[in-house]
Amino acid sequence: MSETNSSLIEAARRRPWHRLRLPRDLEAQFTETTRWSRATYIQSWLLIFIVFNVLSLKMDFDLLGPEQFVVPAFLTLGVFLPAGFAAITALRGITSARRQAGIVIGISVLDMVIVLNSARIAPRTHADTYLILAVIVPMVVGMIAPLSFRHSLVLCGSAFCVYAAYAVAFVLPRSEATGLPLLIASLTLVPIKLAYTREWTRKEAFLLTLEKSARDVDLAAANARLTVLSETDSLTGLRNRRSATAQVQAGWGEACAGGAWATLVLIDIDAFKRLNDTAGHPEGDRCLRQVAEALAAAAARHGAQAARYGGEEFIVFRPGADPSEAARIGESLRLAIQALAYPHPALPDGACITVSIGVATAHGSLGTPAITAADRLKAADDALYRAKRGGRNRVESTILAPASATSEAARTSAFG
Ligand code: GH3
Ligand code: MG
Ligand code: MG
Repeated sequence: MSETNSSLIEAARRRPWHRLRLPRDLEAQFTETTRWSRATYIQSWLLIFIVFNVLSLKMDFDLLGPEQFVVPAFLTLGVFLPAGFAAITALRGITSARRQAGIVIGISVLDMVIVLNSARIAPRTHADTYLILAVIVPMVVGMIAPLSFRHSLVLCGSAFCVYAAYAVAFVLPRSEATGLPLLIASLTLVPIKLAYTREWTRKEAFLLTLEKSARDVDLAAANARLTVLSETDSLTGLRNRRSATAQVQAGWGEACAGGAWATLVLIDIDAFKRLNDTAGHPEGDRCLRQVAEALAAAAARHGAQAARYGGEEFIVFRPGADPSEAARIGESLRLAIQALAYPHPALPDGACITVSIGVATAHGSLGTPAITAADRLKAADDALYRAKRGGRNRVESTILAPASATSEAARTSAFG
């Protein structure tokens, strides 16, 4: 998790109860991630609302009688229905939260006005039914529409004003009027608390998800770093023995499966202990780094990677290299160190650092377990020992292959 991101999420989670808004960037992200689902939710909810209004015409007919029924019928079918479908259309695609809220509030208030109008023209005995219905509209909308707290405040506030204005203008002046309509009007304010809790809970869930995914990313990055560290030699930056051994094992397995050649090269710095003893350990380390760099470059020229096998020993594995290519690789690595001309303070006549090299080339048709990756290493080590005994600064090779593969390799090198 990036430091800024994590502290931002942390701060957002610790914000006081009265601060619903998240810090700017997080708020924008929250709106962005919830916008689409909110729009489709409102669309389906509007559709149900339209069906409800059409069905309520039957009640209008029964309560208002055929003559007065014309008014709500016209307002429902001629005004509310087109407005409802226009709203559904307007919510298609990605719409802003403000636009969604505007649509919800507009449709709810329109419906409420239509119902209040029915209350106005209804016979006294049925007026209260419409009054209660008029309150139910914004209450239900406020509870189910996924509005933010702020927008819910606008919805409930406008509904309350419309209702209260109606009550003051048409209900309270009546001689038999009680305070009941105003009391009922206050019910329009009920969804406000619900909207607050809903927004707070959603934002908490959003922050938790964000925190979790940021942690997952961090964990993946840390794992990747650990993998690199566990496979890298800290002094030279080359791959380490564990990684090299795994590569040799896997590569030899593939060579066996494909019946191909594979070459393994062990490189050992000559008289390195004397360099250490004479010039000191830090100088020995510096030398190791330079040798590693030169070997890596030389190996790369042959399509291979060098690794540090341990101490002052290095290893190069090259799948597909036959004996003649193997000999070229070995010689190329030896010359690369010679060309480095790294002074050896303990040797006479200004002599420089050299390496002895053991090359083991094997043909995959030998297969495992007849020849294992460990046998390959042993063969290269034996060759290296011969190079040391033969006077150092030289390459010794060994070939592990059936006679047929060896003569084939000899032909290839003769014509190559
Ligand atoms: P030879 O020509 O037979 O290979 O002789 P050598 O002196 O190179 O070989 P030997 O095995 O006797 O000594 C290897 C030395 O490498 C001994 C050890 O102190 C040194 N060495 C091993 N790892 C490190 C390292 O990380 N840094 C330094 N500076 N020295 C190291
Ligand atoms: Mg050694
Ligand atoms: Mg050595």
